[in-house]
Amino acid sequence: MMTENLNSKTKFIFITGGVVSSLGKGLASASLAAILQARGFKVRLRKLDPYLNVDPGTMNPCQHGEVFVTDDGTEADLDLGHYERFSGVACTRHDSVTSGKIYQQVLDKERRGDYLGATIQVIPHVTNEIKNFILSNLADEDFVLCEIGGTVGDIEGQPYLETIRQLAYELGRQRTMFIHLTLLPYIPTAGELKTKPTQHSVKQLQEYGIQPDILLCRSQVPIPQNEKRKIALFCNVREERVIAALDAQSIYHVPMAYSREGLDKEVCQYFGIEAPSANLDKWKQIAEVTENPEGEVRIAVVGKYQLQEAYKSLSEALVHGGIANRYKVKIQWTDAEDIEKNGAAAYLSDVNGILIPGGFGSRGTEGKIQAIRHAREQNIPCFGICYGMQMAVIETMRNVAGVQNAGSSEIDHTCEAVVGLMTEWDKDGRQEVRGSHTDLGGTMRLGAYPCVLADGSKAAAIYNSREISERHRHRYEVNLKYEALLRQSGMLITGKSPDGRLPEIVERQDHPWFIGVQFHPELKSKPFSPHPLFVAFVKAAIDNSRLL
Ligand code: GLN
Repeated sequence: MMTENLNSKTKFIFITGGVVSSLGKGLASASLAAILQARGFKVRLRKLDPYLNVDPGTMNPCQHGEVFVTDDGTEADLDLGHYERFSGVACTRHDSVTSGKIYQQVLDKERRGDYLGATIQVIPHVTNEIKNFILSNLADEDFVLCEIGGTVGDIEGQPYLETIRQLAYELGRQRTMFIHLTLLPYIPTAGELKTKPTQHSVKQLQEYGIQPDILLCRSQVPIPQNEKRKIALFCNVREERVIAALDAQSIYHVPMAYSREGLDKEVCQYFGIEAPSANLDKWKQIAEVTENPEGEVRIAVVGKYQLQEAYKSLSEALVHGGIANRYKVKIQWTDAEDIEKNGAAAYLSDVNGILIPGGFGSRGTEGKIQAIRHAREQNIPCFGICYGMQMAVIETMRNVAGVQNAGSSEIDHTCEAVVGLMTEWDKDGRQEVRGSHTDLGGTMRLGAYPCVLADGSKAAAIYNSREISERHRHRYEVNLKYEALLRQSGMLITGKSPDGRLPEIVERQDHPWFIGVQFHPELKSKPFSPHPLFVAFVKAAIDNSRLL
């Protein structure tokens, strides 16, 4: 086992889920990390996803939600976004894995002959690879929280449960803890919370040799003590470790709620460590602002993915921008295809800001372009992100510069490709080269890249800096040969890669607030350090609301 370089103080908390999916395991893990941090501990969060995709980069966001991107260019599960936002600890490629990736590594080793003729099996070869992932690339963390994706009983999840069972045995129970998140359904006709699904879920875990130490029970209503006692008895867990995870007013209330229910106290007691009680002042402040906003602004997000999880970081970043301005941001989710059918004014006449998010493929693009035109002509603050920026450039080219067939080669090969396939760029001093036949998985311009801002630009004023670093995930870019024409049409390119070859930011001079960015600023926004672009955009929307 890979324990040679492991700091002996590091403890591992494994978080599994049962009964149903979508219980908020990611948020629960992030909240536990936040309260352990609030007691002064150093934490790290990791996600193990049992599905067979090598990463979520090629998955439709309508199925699995947003693809989160780390600084080092890993396309990862959206839970890593919760981890970063709640803990402030930047995730890396060492913090997200899937069965696809694990099997890829095992099969690469098999082809190289590394296994010296052995028969390759789930136990030990796959489980060892998972173990290496869990135990490697750690520093001096006090706690490593590993969330196992899916629900106990999923066929793909079995090797992970087997691995954490083995780890508990190898590292010892004094260094490992199992937390199981379940649901207590409330039956209104009986006026009762039901514990049976939790009992079954724990039985199933026990079949895999895992005895949970803490049960975190999601519930709509407070859990009566006698029900906690019953769960404790049936599930072999101490009564005080059956912890209620009640529906909260907002996600920012969750760390405080867990701490009130005794979660961090029980974790410390379990491991036999003394620590000062959790200082949750910063969470209290955030909760206070969200409970007492000075007003409300309405911002339309004109996208096409029906699932709101597909825009998770984006909606969070808007909320953060609201918190910084002490305002509530009301997001109006607007379908770009509806705009194509009924026109932009039908949906956007009473919004204070319009945001066009990232996206792929042709569906809905004309609706996004119409929304941008509406924002430009009506002086409504407009923020284009990635695809949204590309569409903003196309809109100016078509409707201001008069290039009627301006478009993107992602959508149309016969258009004037103002936006075209990026074929080469520099990454950390190395040249990356792509062609139109390259695999789709993991081949975009991914992760953090520096960007230089033009003196005197709105962007430089907002960032209060000349050089920034932002995360990217795109395959196409605005062609710089149109820069002069764009300038004549009122659109300036005010951010570029340091070598000047890639446009990163555009802004309109003749508009109260019109900015497009080729990167994804939403990925770096946190409640305690809201992203300056979102703070400024929400501020512009508030100013707009005062005009109406
Ligand atoms: N589809 C566009 C590209 O690949 C934009 C990507 C995005 O919005 N993330 O360049």
